[in-house]
Amino acid sequence: MVSGGSDSEDDGIAKNNFPTFKMPPKMTDYKWEVGTYFAMKQDFIDAVRTYAIHSGRPIKFKKNDKVRVRAVCKPPCQWNAFCARLPDQETWQLRKVWKGKHTCPRDFKVKLLSSKWLGTKLKPCVRENPKLRITDIMDKTQEKWKTSVTMTKAIRARTMAFDAVDGSFR
Ligand SMILES: [Zn+2]
Repeated sequence: MVSGGSDSEDDGIAKNNFPTFKMPPKMTDYKWEVGTYFAMKQDFIDAVRTYAIHSGRPIKFKKNDKVRVRAVCKPPCQWNAFCARLPDQETWQLRKVWKGKHTCPRDFKVKLLSSKWLGTKLKPCVRENPKLRITDIMDKTQEKWKTSVTMTKAIRARTMAFDAVDGSFR
């Protein structure tokens, strides 16, 4: 737990010992540690999103504003994580996280899987195969992340990947 408002020297030293989050290749069993820094809010959002997709959890963002973000799992599962922006800084810090295990069943329709997230993953595929079909995207997503994706999301993801790849050629 981070103590707020203390300017003591010890506190300053302790603060420097917290790691800054770097996305590991696999978020499936990621150990969330209170105190972890996030260079910006989006890093925390991306971390939670990838964690939800990799581990198949029905997580959603309950609060998301300029100073705080809370991610919660589907009740009765009590997993939750709370991240807040440091005063007068861009940096965010994980303040609270549920240390218990998920009690939710594996989710095969992860809501946090966004077309933007999928689009980023599709970039290499689109570069290799510009004719990548929507059904292939849906199949691959199912195979790779064990979650289904709607056709609408798959179409949007492909468009985003195309635009990104096309843009980098210009
Ligand atoms: Zn859960």
